[in-house]
Amino acid sequence: MTKKTDVVIIGGGINGCSLAYQLAKQDIDVMLLERQHLCSGGTGRCGAGIRQQWSTKENAELAIQSVKIFEQLDKELNAEIGLRQGGYLIAIHDEKELKQAEKNVALQKSLGLQVSVIGPDEIQKIVPILDIKGMRAIAATFCPTDGHADPFKTTDAYAQAARRHGAKLQTYTKVTGIKKKKNTIECVVTNKGKIKTSTVINAAGPHSKEIAEMINIKLPIKPLRKEILVTERVQPLFKPMVISFTDGIYFSQQEGGQILGGISNPNEKNGYFSDPTFFFLQHMAQTLLRYAPSLNTVNVIRQWTGYYDMTPDARPILGEVKGVSGFLQCNGFSGHGFMLSPMVTKLLTEYIVDGKTSEILHNLSLDRFTDKNIEKEAYVVG
Ligand SMILES: Cc1cc2nc3c(=O)[nH]c(=O)nc-3n(C[C@H](O)[C@H](O)[C@H](O)COP(=O)(O)OP(=O)(O)OC[C@H]3O[C@@H](n4cnc5c(N)ncnc54)[C@H](O)[C@@H]3O)c2cc1C
Repeated sequence: MTKKTDVVIIGGGINGCSLAYQLAKQDIDVMLLERQHLCSGGTGRCGAGIRQQWSTKENAELAIQSVKIFEQLDKELNAEIGLRQGGYLIAIHDEKELKQAEKNVALQKSLGLQVSVIGPDEIQKIVPILDIKGMRAIAATFCPTDGHADPFKTTDAYAQAARRHGAKLQTYTKVTGIKKKKNTIECVVTNKGKIKTSTVINAAGPHSKEIAEMINIKLPIKPLRKEILVTERVQPLFKPMVISFTDGIYFSQQEGGQILGGISNPNEKNGYFSDPTFFFLQHMAQTLLRYAPSLNTVNVIRQWTGYYDMTPDARPILGEVKGVSGFLQCNGFSGHGFMLSPMVTKLLTEYIVDGKTSEILHNLSLDRFTDKNIEKEAYVVG
Protein backbone atom coordinates (compact mmCIF):
# COMPACT_ATOMS: atom_id res chain seq x y z
CA MET A 1 0.00 0.00 0.00
CA THR A 2 1.21 3.54 -0.84
CA LYS A 3 2.70 5.12 2.29
CA LYS A 4 2.02 8.76 1.42
CA THR A 5 -0.74 10.70 -0.31
CA ASP A 6 -2.18 14.24 -0.47
CA VAL A 7 -5.72 13.29 0.54
CA VAL A 8 -7.17 10.25 2.31
CA ILE A 9 -10.92 9.63 1.90
CA ILE A 10 -12.48 7.32 4.50
CA GLY A 11 -15.50 5.46 3.12
CA GLY A 12 -16.30 3.87 -0.25
CA GLY A 13 -19.93 4.91 -0.67
CA ILE A 14 -21.32 7.35 -3.21
CA ASN A 15 -19.71 10.34 -1.50
CA GLY A 16 -16.26 8.81 -1.07
CA CYS A 17 -16.15 7.57 -4.67
CA SER A 18 -17.42 10.86 -6.10
CA LEU A 19 -14.81 12.74 -4.07
CA ALA A 20 -12.06 10.39 -5.27
CA TYR A 21 -13.08 11.05 -8.88
CA GLN A 22 -13.35 14.82 -8.56
CA LEU A 23 -10.07 15.23 -6.68
CA ALA A 24 -8.13 12.89 -8.98
CA LYS A 25 -9.49 14.78 -11.99
CA GLN A 26 -7.85 17.90 -10.52
CA ASP A 27 -4.52 16.01 -10.32
CA ILE A 28 -4.71 15.60 -6.54
CA ASP A 29 -2.98 12.48 -5.24
CA VAL A 30 -5.84 10.70 -3.50
CA MET A 31 -6.40 7.40 -1.71
CA LEU A 32 -9.81 6.05 -0.67
CA LEU A 33 -9.97 3.56 2.20
CA GLU A 34 -12.99 1.28 2.56
CA ARG A 35 -13.19 -1.32 5.31
CA GLN A 36 -15.34 -3.71 3.22
CA HIS A 37 -16.32 -3.48 -0.45
CA LEU A 38 -17.52 -0.36 -2.27
CA CYS A 39 -21.25 0.28 -1.61
CA SER A 40 -21.24 -1.85 1.54
CA GLY A 41 -22.70 1.02 3.63
CA GLY A 42 -25.86 3.08 3.18
CA THR A 43 -25.27 3.54 -0.54
CA GLY A 44 -25.78 -0.14 -1.36
CA ARG A 45 -28.96 -0.26 0.73
CA CYS A 46 -30.74 2.89 -0.33
CA GLY A 47 -33.70 3.72 -2.55
CA ALA A 48 -31.50 6.18 -4.48
CA GLY A 49 -34.41 8.56 -4.84
CA ILE A 50 -33.51 12.03 -6.07
CA ARG A 51 -35.74 14.81 -4.74
CA GLN A 52 -35.36 18.57 -5.06
CA GLN A 53 -38.36 19.43 -2.87
CA TRP A 54 -36.95 20.53 0.49
CA SER A 55 -37.91 22.96 3.22
CA THR A 56 -34.41 24.37 3.84
CA LYS A 57 -32.59 26.49 1.29
CA GLU A 58 -29.30 24.59 1.58
CA ASN A 59 -30.85 21.17 0.92
CA ALA A 60 -32.95 22.52 -1.96
CA GLU A 61 -29.95 24.22 -3.56
CA LEU A 62 -27.70 21.17 -3.15
CA ALA A 63 -30.38 18.90 -4.65
CA ILE A 64 -31.22 21.19 -7.58
CA GLN A 65 -27.55 21.59 -8.52
CA SER A 66 -27.02 17.84 -8.04
CA VAL A 67 -29.80 17.00 -10.50
CA LYS A 68 -28.06 19.16 -13.12
CA ILE A 69 -24.92 17.09 -12.56
CA PHE A 70 -26.81 13.74 -12.53
CA GLU A 71 -28.42 14.68 -15.87
CA GLN A 72 -25.08 14.75 -17.66
CA LEU A 73 -23.23 12.15 -15.58
CA ASP A 74 -23.55 9.28 -18.09
CA LYS A 75 -21.63 11.38 -20.57
CA GLU A 76 -19.12 12.74 -18.06
CA LEU A 77 -18.27 9.31 -16.61
CA ASN A 78 -18.80 7.36 -19.82
CA ALA A 79 -21.16 4.96 -18.05
CA GLU A 80 -24.87 4.36 -17.49
CA ILE A 81 -26.09 5.43 -14.01
CA GLY A 82 -29.75 4.45 -14.49
CA LEU A 83 -31.21 7.93 -14.01
CA ARG A 84 -35.02 8.00 -14.43
CA GLN A 85 -36.88 11.27 -13.91
CA GLY A 86 -40.48 10.29 -13.18
CA GLY A 87 -41.04 13.00 -10.57
CA TYR A 88 -41.83 13.01 -6.83
CA LEU A 89 -45.39 13.39 -5.63
CA ILE A 90 -45.54 14.51 -1.99
CA ALA A 91 -48.94 13.93 -0.36
CA ILE A 92 -50.52 16.72 1.68
CA HIS A 93 -53.01 15.55 4.31
CA ASP A 94 -54.24 18.68 6.11
CA GLU A 95 -54.22 22.48 6.16
CA LYS A 96 -51.04 22.64 8.27
CA GLU A 97 -49.13 20.56 5.73
CA LEU A 98 -50.62 22.62 2.90
CA LYS A 99 -49.28 25.83 4.46
CA GLN A 100 -45.82 24.30 4.85
CA ALA A 101 -45.96 22.98 1.27
CA GLU A 102 -46.89 26.40 -0.14
CA LYS A 103 -43.98 27.97 1.71
CA ASN A 104 -41.61 25.27 0.43
CA VAL A 105 -42.84 25.53 -3.14
CA ALA A 106 -42.27 29.31 -3.06
CA LEU A 107 -38.69 28.74 -1.87
CA GLN A 108 -38.06 25.99 -4.44
CA LYS A 109 -39.50 28.14 -7.26
CA SER A 110 -37.29 31.05 -6.22
CA LEU A 111 -34.34 28.68 -6.80
CA GLY A 112 -35.59 27.93 -10.32
CA LEU A 113 -37.34 24.60 -9.72
CA GLN A 114 -40.38 23.56 -11.74
CA VAL A 115 -42.75 22.44 -8.97
CA SER A 116 -46.40 23.00 -8.09
CA VAL A 117 -49.20 22.30 -5.64
CA ILE A 118 -51.80 20.06 -7.30
CA GLY A 119 -55.31 18.94 -6.37
CA PRO A 120 -56.86 15.45 -6.13
CA ASP A 121 -57.83 15.25 -9.85
CA GLU A 122 -54.28 15.96 -10.93
CA ILE A 123 -52.88 13.47 -8.38
CA GLN A 124 -55.15 10.80 -9.83
CA LYS A 125 -54.03 11.64 -13.36
CA ILE A 126 -50.33 11.42 -12.48
CA VAL A 127 -50.60 8.23 -10.37
CA PRO A 128 -53.81 6.42 -11.39
CA ILE A 129 -53.40 3.56 -8.90
CA LEU A 130 -53.73 5.90 -5.89
CA ASP A 131 -56.88 5.84 -3.78
CA ILE A 132 -57.17 9.51 -2.79
CA LYS A 133 -59.68 8.75 -0.01
CA GLY A 134 -57.66 5.83 1.35
CA MET A 135 -54.44 7.87 1.45
CA ARG A 136 -56.36 10.78 3.02
CA ALA A 137 -54.82 13.41 0.75
CA ILE A 138 -56.26 16.86 0.18
CA ALA A 139 -53.52 17.89 -2.26
CA ALA A 140 -49.90 17.15 -3.22
CA THR A 141 -46.80 18.84 -4.54
CA PHE A 142 -45.24 17.53 -7.73
CA CYS A 143 -41.85 18.10 -9.33
CA PRO A 144 -41.43 16.31 -12.68
CA THR A 145 -37.62 16.39 -12.74
CA ASP A 146 -37.20 14.47 -9.47
CA GLY A 147 -36.51 10.75 -9.87
CA HIS A 148 -34.02 8.07 -8.99
CA ALA A 149 -30.82 6.42 -10.23
CA ASP A 150 -29.08 3.10 -9.67
CA PRO A 151 -26.84 3.47 -6.58
CA PHE A 152 -24.50 0.61 -7.56
CA LYS A 153 -24.07 1.75 -11.16
CA THR A 154 -23.55 5.37 -10.11
CA THR A 155 -20.96 4.55 -7.44
CA ASP A 156 -19.17 2.12 -9.74
CA ALA A 157 -19.12 4.74 -12.51
CA TYR A 158 -17.47 7.24 -10.15
CA ALA A 159 -15.03 4.61 -8.84
CA GLN A 160 -13.94 3.55 -12.32
CA ALA A 161 -13.54 7.15 -13.46
CA ALA A 162 -11.55 7.91 -10.29
CA ARG A 163 -9.18 5.01 -11.03
CA ARG A 164 -8.77 6.19 -14.64
CA HIS A 165 -7.61 9.55 -13.24
CA GLY A 166 -5.09 7.86 -10.94
CA ALA A 167 -6.98 7.62 -7.62
CA LYS A 168 -6.18 4.58 -5.48
CA LEU A 169 -9.22 2.82 -4.05
CA GLN A 170 -8.17 0.45 -1.31
CA THR A 171 -10.96 -1.91 -0.18
CA TYR A 172 -10.94 -4.20 2.89
CA THR A 173 -8.79 -1.58 4.62
CA LYS A 174 -10.15 -0.40 7.91
CA VAL A 175 -9.14 2.93 9.43
CA THR A 176 -8.28 2.31 13.07
CA GLY A 177 -6.73 5.62 14.03
CA ILE A 178 -5.74 9.14 12.94
CA LYS A 179 -2.63 10.81 14.26
CA LYS A 180 -2.13 14.56 14.44
CA LYS A 181 0.69 16.86 15.49
CA LYS A 182 -0.57 20.00 17.20
CA ASN A 183 -3.48 21.02 14.98
CA THR A 184 -2.54 19.28 11.76
CA ILE A 185 -3.11 15.74 10.49
CA GLU A 186 0.02 13.59 10.35
CA CYS A 187 -1.16 10.16 9.26
CA VAL A 188 -4.01 7.68 9.03
CA VAL A 189 -3.57 4.29 10.69
CA THR A 190 -5.21 1.22 9.10
CA ASN A 191 -5.21 -2.55 9.62
CA LYS A 192 -2.75 -2.67 6.71
CA GLY A 193 -0.33 0.04 7.79
CA LYS A 194 0.04 3.82 8.07
CA ILE A 195 -0.47 6.44 5.35
CA LYS A 196 1.13 9.87 5.69
CA THR A 197 -1.21 12.68 4.69
CA SER A 198 -2.22 16.20 5.64
CA THR A 199 -5.87 15.99 4.55
CA VAL A 200 -8.56 13.50 5.58
CA ILE A 201 -12.17 13.49 4.40
CA ASN A 202 -14.50 11.66 6.74
CA ALA A 203 -17.15 10.05 4.49
CA ALA A 204 -17.81 6.97 6.62
CA GLY A 205 -21.60 7.31 6.93
CA PRO A 206 -22.85 6.76 10.50
CA HIS A 207 -19.35 5.50 11.44
CA SER A 208 -18.06 9.03 10.79
CA LYS A 209 -18.78 9.67 14.45
CA GLU A 210 -16.23 7.00 15.53
CA ILE A 211 -13.73 8.28 12.96
CA ALA A 212 -13.96 11.85 14.33
CA GLU A 213 -13.60 10.57 17.90
CA MET A 214 -10.16 9.25 16.89
CA ILE A 215 -8.98 12.87 17.14
CA ASN A 216 -11.39 13.97 19.84
CA ILE A 217 -13.90 15.67 17.58
CA LYS A 218 -17.52 15.09 18.57
CA LEU A 219 -20.04 14.75 15.76
CA PRO A 220 -23.76 14.83 16.70
CA ILE A 221 -24.57 11.80 14.55
CA LYS A 222 -26.84 8.90 15.54
CA PRO A 223 -27.32 5.73 13.49
CA LEU A 224 -30.98 5.01 12.75
CA ARG A 225 -32.10 1.70 11.26
CA LYS A 226 -34.25 2.05 8.15
CA GLU A 227 -36.06 -0.81 6.46
CA ILE A 228 -36.95 -1.14 2.82
CA LEU A 229 -38.52 -3.79 0.56
CA VAL A 230 -38.91 -4.71 -3.05
CA THR A 231 -41.71 -6.66 -4.74
CA GLU A 232 -41.87 -8.95 -7.72
CA ARG A 233 -42.11 -7.33 -11.16
CA VAL A 234 -45.49 -6.03 -12.26
CA GLN A 235 -46.64 -4.24 -15.41
CA PRO A 236 -45.81 -0.51 -15.63
CA LEU A 237 -48.31 1.31 -13.38
CA PHE A 238 -46.83 4.70 -12.42
CA LYS A 239 -43.68 6.78 -12.76
CA PRO A 240 -43.24 9.10 -9.75
CA MET A 241 -42.02 8.38 -6.25
CA VAL A 242 -45.04 8.78 -3.94
CA ILE A 243 -44.16 10.05 -0.49
CA SER A 244 -45.95 11.16 2.69
CA PHE A 245 -44.24 12.69 5.71
CA THR A 246 -47.34 12.13 7.86
CA ASP A 247 -47.43 8.39 7.17
CA GLY A 248 -43.65 8.11 6.77
CA ILE A 249 -44.07 6.11 3.57
CA TYR A 250 -42.37 6.30 0.18
CA PHE A 251 -42.70 4.01 -2.83
CA SER A 252 -41.93 4.01 -6.52
CA GLN A 253 -41.92 1.59 -9.42
CA GLN A 254 -38.53 0.66 -10.81
CA GLU A 255 -37.81 0.41 -14.51
CA GLY A 256 -38.01 -3.38 -14.28
CA GLY A 257 -41.52 -3.21 -12.76
CA GLN A 258 -40.68 -3.87 -9.08
CA ILE A 259 -42.26 -1.66 -6.40
CA LEU A 260 -39.55 -0.39 -4.04
CA GLY A 261 -40.41 1.38 -0.82
CA GLY A 262 -40.08 1.92 2.87
CA ILE A 263 -41.88 3.31 5.88
CA SER A 264 -40.63 4.75 9.13
CA ASN A 265 -41.11 2.96 12.41
CA PRO A 266 -42.19 5.57 14.97
CA ASN A 267 -40.75 3.42 17.79
CA GLU A 268 -37.32 2.84 16.23
CA LYS A 269 -34.42 3.51 18.63
CA ASN A 270 -31.04 4.87 17.61
CA GLY A 271 -28.29 2.28 17.33
CA TYR A 272 -26.88 -0.49 15.12
CA PHE A 273 -29.74 -3.01 14.90
CA SER A 274 -29.37 -4.74 11.57
CA ASP A 275 -32.14 -7.37 11.72
CA PRO A 276 -35.18 -6.81 9.50
CA THR A 277 -38.51 -6.82 11.39
CA PHE A 278 -41.92 -8.34 10.79
CA PHE A 279 -43.45 -5.10 12.10
CA PHE A 280 -42.02 -3.27 9.10
CA LEU A 281 -43.40 -5.76 6.62
CA GLN A 282 -46.88 -5.56 8.14
CA HIS A 283 -46.89 -1.78 8.63
CA MET A 284 -45.61 -1.19 5.09
CA ALA A 285 -48.09 -3.60 3.50
CA GLN A 286 -51.07 -2.16 5.39
CA THR A 287 -50.19 1.46 4.60
CA LEU A 288 -49.25 0.76 0.99
CA LEU A 289 -52.59 -0.98 0.38
CA ARG A 290 -54.40 2.00 1.83
CA TYR A 291 -52.64 4.14 -0.79
CA ALA A 292 -52.84 1.67 -3.67
CA PRO A 293 -55.35 -1.16 -2.98
CA SER A 294 -54.82 -2.71 -6.41
CA LEU A 295 -51.34 -3.87 -5.33
CA ASN A 296 -52.92 -6.42 -2.97
CA THR A 297 -51.84 -9.45 -4.98
CA VAL A 298 -48.23 -8.35 -5.48
CA ASN A 299 -45.64 -10.45 -3.62
CA VAL A 300 -42.75 -8.99 -1.63
CA ILE A 301 -39.54 -10.72 -2.65
CA ARG A 302 -36.98 -9.11 -0.33
CA GLN A 303 -36.63 -6.74 2.63
CA TRP A 304 -33.41 -5.38 4.10
CA THR A 305 -32.05 -2.76 6.49
CA GLY A 306 -29.55 0.09 6.45
CA TYR A 307 -28.76 3.13 8.57
CA TYR A 308 -29.39 6.82 8.28
CA ASP A 309 -26.64 8.98 9.82
CA MET A 310 -29.02 11.35 11.61
CA THR A 311 -28.05 14.84 12.76
CA PRO A 312 -30.14 17.06 15.07
CA ASP A 313 -31.40 19.19 12.16
CA ALA A 314 -31.49 16.35 9.57
CA ARG A 315 -28.94 18.15 7.38
CA PRO A 316 -25.39 17.08 6.47
CA ILE A 317 -22.20 18.11 8.22
CA LEU A 318 -19.78 19.49 5.65
CA GLY A 319 -16.33 21.01 5.47
CA GLU A 320 -13.30 21.57 7.66
CA VAL A 321 -13.76 21.46 11.42
CA LYS A 322 -12.32 24.17 13.62
CA GLY A 323 -9.23 23.17 15.56
CA VAL A 324 -7.87 20.47 13.21
CA SER A 325 -6.54 21.75 9.92
CA GLY A 326 -7.14 19.31 7.04
CA PHE A 327 -9.92 17.28 8.69
CA LEU A 328 -13.06 17.59 6.54
CA GLN A 329 -16.55 16.20 7.11
CA CYS A 330 -18.82 14.75 4.46
CA ASN A 331 -21.42 12.96 6.58
CA GLY A 332 -24.61 13.28 8.61
CA PHE A 333 -26.78 13.04 5.50
CA SER A 334 -29.82 11.92 7.49
CA GLY A 335 -31.20 9.78 4.66
CA HIS A 336 -30.43 12.03 1.68
CA GLY A 337 -26.80 11.43 0.92
CA PHE A 338 -27.23 9.82 -2.47
CA MET A 339 -29.20 12.66 -4.03
CA LEU A 340 -27.01 15.44 -2.61
CA SER A 341 -23.67 13.80 -3.38
CA PRO A 342 -22.79 15.37 -6.77
CA MET A 343 -22.95 18.96 -5.50
CA VAL A 344 -21.66 18.27 -1.98
CA THR A 345 -18.54 16.60 -3.36
CA LYS A 346 -18.06 19.36 -5.94
CA LEU A 347 -18.08 22.02 -3.19
CA LEU A 348 -15.66 20.04 -1.01
CA THR A 349 -13.34 19.49 -3.96
CA GLU A 350 -13.33 23.24 -4.74
CA TYR A 351 -12.48 23.91 -1.10
CA ILE A 352 -9.55 21.48 -1.12
CA VAL A 353 -8.17 22.46 -4.53
CA ASP A 354 -8.67 26.26 -4.52
CA GLY A 355 -9.53 27.05 -0.91
CA LYS A 356 -12.88 28.25 -2.26
CA THR A 357 -15.53 28.34 0.41
CA SER A 358 -19.27 28.84 -0.05
CA GLU A 359 -22.33 29.88 1.92
CA ILE A 360 -23.56 26.28 1.91
CA LEU A 361 -20.33 24.90 3.40
CA HIS A 362 -20.43 27.65 6.00
CA ASN A 363 -24.09 27.08 6.90
CA LEU A 364 -23.67 23.30 7.10
CA SER A 365 -20.43 23.24 9.07
CA LEU A 366 -20.13 21.45 12.42
CA ASP A 367 -20.09 24.88 14.12
CA ARG A 368 -23.78 25.45 13.47
CA PHE A 369 -24.77 23.13 16.31
CA THR A 370 -23.60 25.67 18.89
CA ASP A 371 -26.61 27.75 17.82
CA LYS A 372 -29.71 26.56 19.68
CA ASN A 373 -32.01 27.97 17.00
CA ILE A 374 -30.69 25.99 14.03
CA GLU A 375 -33.22 25.51 11.27
CA LYS A 376 -34.44 21.91 10.99
CA GLU A 377 -35.20 20.22 7.70
CA ALA A 378 -38.95 19.54 7.80
CA TYR A 379 -39.18 17.23 4.78
CA VAL A 380 -37.71 14.04 6.20
CA VAL A 381 -39.12 10.51 6.30
CA GLY A 382 -37.71 10.11 9.80
C1 LIG B 1 -33.19 2.19 3.52
C2 LIG B 1 -32.52 3.44 3.05
C3 LIG B 1 -33.09 4.19 2.03
C4 LIG B 1 -32.46 5.36 1.59
N1 LIG B 1 -33.01 6.05 0.54
C5 LIG B 1 -32.37 7.14 0.06
C6 LIG B 1 -32.88 7.82 -1.08
O1 LIG B 1 -33.92 7.47 -1.62
N2 LIG B 1 -32.18 8.88 -1.55
C7 LIG B 1 -31.01 9.33 -0.95
O2 LIG B 1 -30.43 10.31 -1.40
N3 LIG B 1 -30.51 8.68 0.13
C8 LIG B 1 -31.15 7.61 0.63
N4 LIG B 1 -30.64 6.95 1.71
C9 LIG B 1 -29.45 7.51 2.37
C10 LIG B 1 -28.21 7.16 1.58
O3 LIG B 1 -28.11 5.77 1.44
C11 LIG B 1 -26.96 7.69 2.28
O4 LIG B 1 -27.16 9.01 2.74
C12 LIG B 1 -25.78 7.68 1.33
O5 LIG B 1 -25.68 6.47 0.67
C13 LIG B 1 -24.53 7.98 2.12
O6 LIG B 1 -23.41 7.72 1.30
P1 LIG B 1 -21.98 7.89 1.91
O7 LIG B 1 -21.03 7.66 0.82
O8 LIG B 1 -21.92 9.20 2.62
O9 LIG B 1 -21.91 6.77 3.07
P2 LIG B 1 -21.99 5.18 2.98
O10 LIG B 1 -22.59 4.69 1.73
O11 LIG B 1 -22.62 4.74 4.26
O12 LIG B 1 -20.47 4.76 2.96
C14 LIG B 1 -19.65 4.87 4.09
C15 LIG B 1 -18.60 3.78 3.99
O13 LIG B 1 -17.64 3.97 5.03
C16 LIG B 1 -17.13 2.70 5.34
N5 LIG B 1 -16.47 2.76 6.65
C17 LIG B 1 -17.03 2.92 7.88
N6 LIG B 1 -16.09 2.91 8.82
C18 LIG B 1 -14.90 2.74 8.19
C19 LIG B 1 -13.56 2.63 8.66
N7 LIG B 1 -13.23 2.66 9.96
N8 LIG B 1 -12.58 2.46 7.73
C20 LIG B 1 -12.86 2.39 6.40
N9 LIG B 1 -14.13 2.47 5.93
C21 LIG B 1 -15.13 2.65 6.81
C22 LIG B 1 -18.38 1.81 5.36
O14 LIG B 1 -18.05 0.44 5.20
C23 LIG B 1 -19.17 2.37 4.18
O15 LIG B 1 -19.01 1.63 2.99
C24 LIG B 1 -31.23 5.80 2.19
C25 LIG B 1 -30.66 5.02 3.19
C26 LIG B 1 -31.27 3.86 3.63
C27 LIG B 1 -30.62 3.05 4.70
